[in-house]
Order: sequence, then structure tokens, then C-alpha cells
Amino acid sequence: MHASSALRVVHEPDTGVDLAAAEVAAAAFLQALGISTESESLQGTPRRMAKAYAELFTPRPFDLTTFPNEEGYDELVLARAIPVRSVCEHHLLPFVGVAHVGYLPGERILGLSKLARVVEHFACRPQVQERLTKQVADWLNDQLSPKGVGVVIEAEHNCMTLRGVQAVGSSTVTSTLLGSLRSDSRSRQEFFALTGVNA
Ligand SMILES: [Zn+2]
Repeated sequence: MHASSALRVVHEPDTGVDLAAAEVAAAAFLQALGISTESESLQGTPRRMAKAYAELFTPRPFDLTTFPNEEGYDELVLARAIPVRSVCEHHLLPFVGVAHVGYLPGERILGLSKLARVVEHFACRPQVQERLTKQVADWLNDQLSPKGVGVVIEAEHNCMTLRGVQAVGSSTVTSTLLGSLRSDSRSRQEFFALTGVNA
């Protein structure tokens, strides 16, 4: 039997979700923008808006199970192109893209699918991309005590592409490197080469 340790990861919103209050507020918001919700098609829109945002801000709980690194695996473990879907906290519009998450194992390793769950965990709240990138890296660093962690996120922000400067097709790249992925240039280069990001 392999020794494993599991941690239930649940993000509790600060004040809980009051869907009824959110629906009333969404209706008032639309009305203030001059959008009538009289028609059959728009009648349910405030309710759907409330539910949609509640869903975007509620990550699924998951079990983070880590295992001892019995084989002494010491090469980079990298999950590429993990889908990222979050909401910019400045405009409450979505930003969507991919994350590349890697680590150099120390004493413990974890299932690859969990890297995607960690990204989702921190993405399901009002966010800025820089903080999201750092939170994923810091959390893995704390939970796994790896030799190094690297997180790169490339995302398109609707608040930039649909309005304002309307920079259609532009994406924003952020990265956080910790441990030897930060301090060792060979590891760093290998990480960026494998992610396909020019850095
Ligand atoms: Zn924004």
C-alpha cells in the first residue's frame, strides 16, 4: 500500500450566496441600463444572471491527494494548456485562456488532474490574472514542498477585447516561478520551452 494523504479543498465564499437578492439586484441593474425585462425572452434574465455568476464564483470541492515520491522522480512534471475560465474583478467580465502548471517534485507528488483542479479552485472568484497565477504557484509550493514550481497563464480578457481599447485577439501572459525553477536558468529555460511560451 502506498501511503497517501488527502486534503479536502473547499472555497467558502465570504458571505454565502443569496440568489434571490442577486436576482432582484440584477433586475435593477438592467433597468438602470435602460434594458427592459418585459419580454418573454428577457423575463428570466435577472435570475439567469444571478445563477450564472454564482456558478462562476463557486468552485467544485476536490480532494487533493498527495503521494510519497517513492521512485525519487526528479524531472519536471508539467500539465500544459489547462483551461482557465475566470472573471476579472475590475469589470466582472470573463477572462479565458490556458494555464501551464509544472513542478519539480520533492518528497511528494500528486495526480496530474489535480493541477487543473487547483487552477479552477482559484479561478472561480473575482480575480486578476497576476494574483491567480501567484495563488496557484504559492498553494502548490505550500502543499507539496516541491523543489520548484512554475505557473504560466495566457488569457484573453473580454474587458480588453470587447470594449475599451478593443484589442481583439490580444492575450495577456503572466508567470510565477518559485524555487529552483526561478533560481536555476537551465530549469527555467526547460520549463518555458516545454510550455511553448517565449520568455
Ligand atoms: Zn477587466
